[in-house]
Parts: sequence; C-alpha cells; structure tokens
Amino acid sequence: MASQSSITFSEATEIARDIKTIAYNLWWTWNVDARDLFRELSPQTYFRCNHNVIAMFEEISDQELAARLLDPIQMDRAKNVINQYRDYMAEKNTWANKHAKEIMKNGPVAYFSAEFGLHESLPIYSGGLGILAGDHTKSASDLGLPYIGVSLYYRQGYFEQRIGPDGWQQEEFPNTDPKKLPLELVTDESGEPIVASVTIGHSKVTFHAWRINLGRVSLILLDTNREENELHYREMISQVYGGDITTRISQEIVLGIGGVRMLRAMGISPSVFHMNEGHSAFLTLELYRELVAEQKKKEKEAIEWIRQRCVFTTHTPVPAGHDRFSEDLMRFTLQKFCTHCWQDVSEIMHFGRVDPENKEEPFCMTVLAIKLSRSTNGVSELHSKVSSEMWKDLFPKKSGNKHPIGYITNGVHVPGWTSSRAYRFWQNKLGLDWPNNLDNPAFWQRIEDPEFISDEELWALRYILRRELIEFVRTRLRQQSARYGNNPGGTFDKVLSTDALTIGFARRFATYKRATLFFSNPDRARKILLDPHRPVQIIFAGKSHPRDDQGKRFIQQLVTFAREPELFNKVVFLENYDINAGRLLVSGSDVWLNNPRRPLEASGTSGQKTAIHGGLNASILDGWWREGYDGKNGWAIGEDDHPDSLEEQDRLDAENLYDVIENQVIPEFYSREGNGVPRNWLNRVRHAMATLIPQYNTDRMVEEYVRKYYLNNKK
Ligand SMILES: *Cc1c(COP(=O)(O)O)cnc(C)c1O
Repeated sequence: MASQSSITFSEATEIARDIKTIAYNLWWTWNVDARDLFRELSPQTYFRCNHNVIAMFEEISDQELAARLLDPIQMDRAKNVINQYRDYMAEKNTWANKHAKEIMKNGPVAYFSAEFGLHESLPIYSGGLGILAGDHTKSASDLGLPYIGVSLYYRQGYFEQRIGPDGWQQEEFPNTDPKKLPLELVTDESGEPIVASVTIGHSKVTFHAWRINLGRVSLILLDTNREENELHYREMISQVYGGDITTRISQEIVLGIGGVRMLRAMGISPSVFHMNEGHSAFLTLELYRELVAEQKKKEKEAIEWIRQRCVFTTHTPVPAGHDRFSEDLMRFTLQKFCTHCWQDVSEIMHFGRVDPENKEEPFCMTVLAIKLSRSTNGVSELHSKVSSEMWKDLFPKKSGNKHPIGYITNGVHVPGWTSSRAYRFWQNKLGLDWPNNLDNPAFWQRIEDPEFISDEELWALRYILRRELIEFVRTRLRQQSARYGNNPGGTFDKVLSTDALTIGFARRFATYKRATLFFSNPDRARKILLDPHRPVQIIFAGKSHPRDDQGKRFIQQLVTFAREPELFNKVVFLENYDINAGRLLVSGSDVWLNNPRRPLEASGTSGQKTAIHGGLNASILDGWWREGYDGKNGWAIGEDDHPDSLEEQDRLDAENLYDVIENQVIPEFYSREGNGVPRNWLNRVRHAMATLIPQYNTDRMVEEYVRKYYLNNKK
C-alpha cells in the first residue's frame, strides 16, 4: 500500500491535468483502465452523460478532481493510465514501422467517410458503414500507420430514437456543443482557425475543421457553421444523410472537394486517398483541378496520377443504393467549380456514367470512384462477386479477371468493443497484452483447451455479461416508461431472466435486414418463447431512417409483440440503439441473430463483436458469415444459396430460422452436464473464439488494406 501522506496536493493537481488531457484522446475508450478510472470518478454522471467524459468534467471541478486524487488508490489508477498512455503514444516498434515504411516516408493515408462511429457520445454515424470507419481508424492507430480521417461535423448528427405510446418511432435531433465533446479546433501556428472554402452554385461556402484525436492518429470534421455563410449553408451539415438531394450533393462537395482543400491548408500531403463508399468521390475531381489548373499537367497525366493514389471501397450491393445526381443538379451546384478545367459541366458527366455516350444517364458517385481509383474492393467474397457483376461494364472485358472488384472482409476493433468485464477476464487469462495479439491465430488457439480455461469459468463469464445486459435493459425500460408517466417503476424487475437463453438482434432497421423475420409466424415464435422448461428471450434494438416508413412499421410490430402480456418479460425492444447499447447487447446475448435477405448484407459486422464475449452467431450465409462459419463455430440459417423469388426466400429463411433455433440452439443450450454447465455449447463457444477473433478484427483488415491496396498504389 502506498502511504497516504506521500501525495501532495500539487502532485495531485498535476496528475489531474494529465488525465483531463487524456480525456481529449479517444484512446481512453479502448483502454479498460482508462475507462474504469473515468467511470469511478462519478458513476452516475458518467452514465447520465452517456460516457462523454468531457461533459462529465464540466461537473467535476478541478478542486474536486485534485482532492479525489489524494486517495492513493485513485492516484495509482491515474498514474497507471498516464503511463500506459505515454508508452502507447511513444511506441516506435509498431507494425507499420516494419511493414509500411513506404507510407511512413511518402505521406499518410487520408481516409474519407461520410460517417464515423467512434463513441456513443459522438452521434456522427448512422450504422455499420460508420462503425467500420471508426474501427479502421482505431486499428490504424494501434498499428502505427500514418493516417488521417476526413468527415463532416454534423451538429445534430444522427437522431435520438424515442418510441411513442403507439409504438411508432419518433426522432429527436438535439444540438451538440463542440465544447462538450472531445474536439479541438484546427488552427495554424498563430492559433487562428484554419479556414478553407468551396463554391456551391454561385456561393462561396467557408468551413473550418475540428480535430478528434484517436491514439496516434486523428480525424478532422469539416464544419460550415460560420457567420459569413448563408443560413442554409450553415445548416446543411447538421444531420447525417439529412435533407434533400441538393443537401446531399452539397454535403458531398464539402466532404470530397473541401476535404482535400482542408488537408492542403493544414500542410498534409497524403500518399493514399481511401474513399469509404462513394460519398467522398468528388475528391478525385479536386485532385484533377489541382493537377490541371494549378500544376498545368495534361489530362492523361493527371488521371494517371490520381489513379495511382486513390483506393475505393464499395459497400452497396443494390443499384438503387448508390448516389446519383442529374446533370441539372450537377450544373446547379458544380458549374463554377468545373470552369477551372472545363467549359461546362457536361464535360465531366462521363466520369460518372457507365455509358459515357448516354446523355440520359445521371452522374453516379460510385462510377466516378471506380473510374478514378487504382483499385475497387468489396467487403466480403460474396459481395465482391455481386459487385463485379453489377459494375462489369466498367471493366475491360478481355482482361479475363472474373472479379475485377476484389475484397477485404470487414472486421471490428476488438478492444473497443469488449465490455470491461470481458476485457478484465481476458487480462487474467491471456495477459495484459491480449489486444496486441489479434492478428495471431496461435494466440487464440489456446482457448480451445479446457485445461487453459475451464467450462465453469467460461460459463461464469456468460452469467456476468448476461446479467449486466439485463440490468441495463431494466434501467432503460424504467426511464422509458417514466417519460410517459405510466407503469410504476417496479414492473420491470422481472423483465428477462439471467438463466434463460438470450437472443440479440440490433442493427439499422433497413428493410433487407428483416428485423421481424423471427415473428413471421407469430404462433411458432410464441411457442419458442413461452416454453416453461426451456425459456427463450429476445432483445431487439435499432433505428429506422427517418424517411423509411417500412422500417418504422417493423419497429411498431416488434413493440406490439413486446407489449403482449405473455411476452412482456421475454421480448424487449430497446430504444435508441447506439454504440453503448450495442456493446452491451453483443456481450450479453448468447446468440446473435442475423437474417438479412441474401446477398444484400455486404459484410455485416455486429456478429463479429460477440465472439470475444462468448456469444454465438446464428446467421444467414451472407457477407462475413458465409466465410466465417465452419460448421462448428455457430449456426447457419439455410444453405449457401438462395431462391430468386423474394417471397420464396423469406418463407424458406423463416422456416430454416425456426428449425435451427428449435432443433439445434435450444437443445444444446439446455443440455446440462456436471455442475449444470452446457459442455457442447461451450465447446462451440471456444471454437468460435479461436476461429473468429483472430480473423474478424480490424488489425487484420487494415494490414490487408496496407499490403493489397495502400502499398501497391504506385507503380
Ligand atoms: C456494429 C454496429 C452496426 C453494424 O451492424 P450490422 O449488423 O453489421 O448492420 C450498426 N450500428 C451500431 C451501433 C453498431 O455497433
């Protein structure tokens, strides 16, 4: 024990300052000691601020903070976190230092994405695309890759979801305050904000940028909310994918063209431009303008230059999902920009047309990105096939390459997604260094060995995580009902059982994800849920896009089932799905259900977050699961194949879903041997951990991007 008298108040003040600095680096969100340190300062405030520690520090005075650090236990915690942070930031012996020297020398990877899912306190994402961008960024930091992310500062972001008394989704868009978020204004040497501009229509639109620090890398968010701008330009970036098509193209002009200009103004010269989905593809036109209008390069040379540096990842396996703009809209917004290099907008339309001669074809951002990138990739093997077929006219027929669009299967940033309880469990079992071994299959192989971890220990972990989720759900339900002034608080104490098989389903409520498939035969669903001997419970969460009424009907249907008196304690629709709710759901659920209409789930990532918590996937063989499933590490719903007719597909998939749950999942979960432990189930869990964790993580994914696309980008 440290002796109490050894801490002076001035030492405590200094340490207090250091931990406040660390609060401005989201590194803390994937370090369990930092997470615990902040939470312990004021568990209730931490919970109420949705883990936003900058907002929490508004309520803890410097005086209190220093005083609290006079406690030797708190002081040891704080010092430990500060040391880990310094070591992390100073580390020279990184993966990139060994494997990506060229990038270290030539300039960073600039990763452009319309959304980034980084933390529950930053609502600048809508779903999996943003989560992927955030996880890519965190792994870039962990691997020591020179990297900068580029996106937009959505002041209201993506909405907060409330479920009305009628079960219909309501959206709230509270304004965020940049001063209460981990943001720093990007400034020049004299401390003045760096301001750049783009032209939209006839207006000059200026913007500054906010920086978010994530370990060793950063992300900049462009913000047009400046006094000198016309009101609608000040407000056009307030919501993620908000507004009409003119807002959409304007946002994309700021992201792509403005993003390059801000990087230049900051003195940053990327060696790779990675477009995560087509929203940022205008960046290629800005590079063209720099080369042709400023550097007087010839057209052919300019295009060659751009194609050597740009990398494109597509995510959308349906033609309708890609941004398309009419020639009129392009002229209305981009005519002035075009005159730097061209006479008229009509001269750039061919970059966005599959058939350059077809004057009726709108301008497609995906086509632009494919035409001006060195490589295009999908996010799973099946998705690469579907995308290659969809865009085959853009590639030379004779090349003999059946799949010109390659793939790198998505992953997740495992330490960021691991609940604190599970994180500590693995620290004990695998050592403090476990997050640095994600790309090492041999490291995870040990989990298959019951001598290394006993069934009883694994089962205890499942109990801890299941209870944590259930307590979170009950608290949320109480808050939810308090808002409508109905239901006495006590009613929720029996919702869900810690002994029952718990199924989780949470993601965006896009129609193709078929959130209601489990209830497509309500009687069969009820029979499963109400079995008194082998009870099953299911928790749903997810937001529907504000303009997607079909998604909202799905939510309403689920809410209606959850309100049936018999099902009340067994079916929950948890409102306001976000990263925090997601982390709890993937950790507490025994089975993660995924039943998209194949092949529309390009990859999917939520199921990848469960393995580290001992959860199992039951999924259609689509996206990542088609590759991840090996017959013993979870369950497949249906075959590696699907009928053409949608009705037939839905009917068959529902049938297969019920069969898997009734005949495989439930019997295995409830077959208990010595000590009441389900041994076969836990063997499946071990095997899932050993096979899935070292594969479906973003360290492996970013390493693949570096090897396959970033390093190869120059001839
Ligand atoms: C992981 C995650 C997603 C992606 O889920 P999918 O099942 O891949 O669609 C979406 N939203 C949040 C908050 C997530 O954590």
